[in-house]
Amino acid sequence: MLLEKSYHKNKEKNLHGLRIHYQHIEGLLSKLPKHLFREQIIGYSHENVPIHSVIIGSGSIKILLWSQMHGDESTATKSLFDVFNYLSNELDFNSDIKNLLEHCTLLFIPMLNPDGAYAYTRENGQGIDLNRDAKRLVSPEAKLLMCIATEFKPNFAFNLHDQTSFYSVTGTNGVATLSFLSPASDESREITASRREAMSVISTMFTALKPHLPNQIGRYNDTFNADCFGDSFQMLDFPTILIESGYFPGDELREETRKFHFVALMTALFAIAGRELPNSDTYFDIPLNNKIYYDIRLDNIRYNNSLTSVAIRFLYKLKGDKLVKEIDTTETISGSTLGGKLFHKTINAQDQVFTNLNYLGFLVK
Ligand SMILES: [Zn+2]
Repeated sequence: MLLEKSYHKNKEKNLHGLRIHYQHIEGLLSKLPKHLFREQIIGYSHENVPIHSVIIGSGSIKILLWSQMHGDESTATKSLFDVFNYLSNELDFNSDIKNLLEHCTLLFIPMLNPDGAYAYTRENGQGIDLNRDAKRLVSPEAKLLMCIATEFKPNFAFNLHDQTSFYSVTGTNGVATLSFLSPASDESREITASRREAMSVISTMFTALKPHLPNQIGRYNDTFNADCFGDSFQMLDFPTILIESGYFPGDELREETRKFHFVALMTALFAIAGRELPNSDTYFDIPLNNKIYYDIRLDNIRYNNSLTSVAIRFLYKLKGDKLVKEIDTTETISGSTLGGKLFHKTINAQDQVFTNLNYLGFLVK
């Protein structure tokens, strides 16, 4: 895969795992080479933690990228530091990077929600989902993002998130390792010029990654929601690309997905800089996401005097300073509702008796 070697050479080894918070990136930000990167504090979170931007390049095409607006979604943050290493380590001999920095100005916000990142929550310190605060702008972080974007007026905006392991790619048994969306800018979901530009960028990434992630790239449905930043930016004619980093089989820490995210992002950036964007038609070839995956299927469980199958989903919770995987008891299904669902793993429970399906924990440890 193109760019794979560059990824391995430049992977930021100080960032690893699911929980990445401000203390992990603070030192790395201060070490960015000053002759290349303009790094500064642009604001503070609700709990007064600095929010940084990193600018590189001097071209007329302006690209805004932000990550971790949901605190527990860190894959893109890790990947952005791999990108920083790649840009600075290979600039001297890589004409694609030279071209990128000559034609584009890249403004990164690597961690928009440091409070959520520390607490390992989606929401910020006020309990607000920043991606539902684009219209009301109640949180300082959402205000900051809106303020930076309206001042910078990006030609392209990258909204970088993580999705759960529960999304499959419609019509296949594949899990959605990467998903994309060019958000709508109104209820009618008209394909505006701005949407079309975002679709072209997504088409580029899809075409490059498809051979390496067969049946593992999905598309989100484009129901309009003005409270979301992607939709709001699209209304302002900032072509906005949503990238969701998802699960790769066996890769709970999203380190494999991190690689694909790096490749996707650099492919997109090089195409934008080289003005080599294809038409947007391929966008609609990407199958929709379908949330039908469960982490584990347990067969032959004895419950209410009969044998049944149960499917469970996990979630991660912060306990002290550690992330602990727990069964999400609100998501457990059993019996005939398992029909049409997909499972990352199947376990034979061998006639174990349960009186309450919330107590399956010991079977899946
Ligand atoms: Zn998110």
